[in-house]
Amino acid sequence: EAIRRKEQLRCHDLAARYYHHILMNTEAGVPAMRYLQERGLTLSTIEEFQLGYAPDRWNILLTFLKKRGFQEGFLEQAGLLSQSGNQPGRYFDRFRGRVMFPIHDGQGRVIGFGGRIIGQGEPKYLNSPETELFQKGRHLFNLHRARQPIRQRNRAILLEGYMDVITAYQHGIKNVVAALGTALTSEQAKILQRNAGEILMMYDGDRAGQDAALRSSEVIAATGGMPRVTVLPDGLDPDEYLKKYGAIAFERIVEEGSVSSTAFKLRMLRNKSQLSSQEGVIAFLSEAVRIVAEVRSPVERETYLRELAGEFNVSLESLMQEMQMTVSQPK
Ligand code: ATP
Ligand code: MN
Ligand code: MN
Ligand code: MN
Repeated sequence: EAIRRKEQLRCHDLAARYYHHILMNTEAGVPAMRYLQERGLTLSTIEEFQLGYAPDRWNILLTFLKKRGFQEGFLEQAGLLSQSGNQPGRYFDRFRGRVMFPIHDGQGRVIGFGGRIIGQGEPKYLNSPETELFQKGRHLFNLHRARQPIRQRNRAILLEGYMDVITAYQHGIKNVVAALGTALTSEQAKILQRNAGEILMMYDGDRAGQDAALRSSEVIAATGGMPRVTVLPDGLDPDEYLKKYGAIAFERIVEEGSVSSTAFKLRMLRNKSQLSSQEGVIAFLSEAVRIVAEVRSPVERETYLRELAGEFNVSLESLMQEMQMTVSQPK
């Protein structure tokens, strides 16, 4: 069992080195290298993240690892090979024609990969499957590099994608991690809470990102944390924002542009409400009060209610009463 695990780690380490070598030193890696440099990554970032390239061929990795004594069946279970559907027993490389992002565990050992297609194509990202080694919900991309910076700044910044994390890191913003997939798990939330007083979510400015931010903030709140949320302007993601506006503007948004998850939820609700009609306002307020009712601190609850009361010209007392009713008669 322990031996098996060790062998899985070893083949991942070998695969990461091999993909990296192909990117850095071979003719086959040239288009991938050009792609990464066009996206603004420096050689030293490419080295630090041990980025690689899996050529668009069927058995590059298979041949390489078989020569080193690994069995095909074992490599499939490790998530590095796939098995042919109509010819069982025929194996081929899972990752083909993709830029490879190694994913490490908390101790910096490679346990899986994300692979991005160069340019357009579907799926854009292909990740390692769930394996004994790689359980997506228990790991965060870049955690082993970000742990110290997160502790030092007492803040973890949670981003959506690999490229967001890598670009931020290259810009000197090092307390950044990404969940592997969209929704954060409570296990990932706990890891972050152990290392930071504040978890700041900065998801993509598009609809999918905002919904994911909402779900993730619920998970963090449910594990006892106090998430904050930042929304970048113009639907940009952190990678695009940093390239357009730079690190200083980014840091300013982190410091000044984040709101509590309650304020974020109220804003999302507001965006989809019809506030031009009286019925719309009433529906909005009744839903808003439900959101505020979930806040633990009475002082904080009152602050939100006061704001709503002022803005919609109703009394604080009636909002308080409405909230009491909400609590005594759940939806
Ligand atoms: P890029 O900047 O390279 O276009 P991105 O990081 O902005 O990509 P998004 O489409 O915003 O990518 O997705 C965010 C993250 O979600 C990705 O980094 C990846 O981890 C994951 N992801 C995106 N598409 C897929 C997919 N098809 N399958 C699995 N995971 C995906
Ligand atoms: Mn997105
Ligand atoms: Mn994105
Ligand atoms: Mn992007």
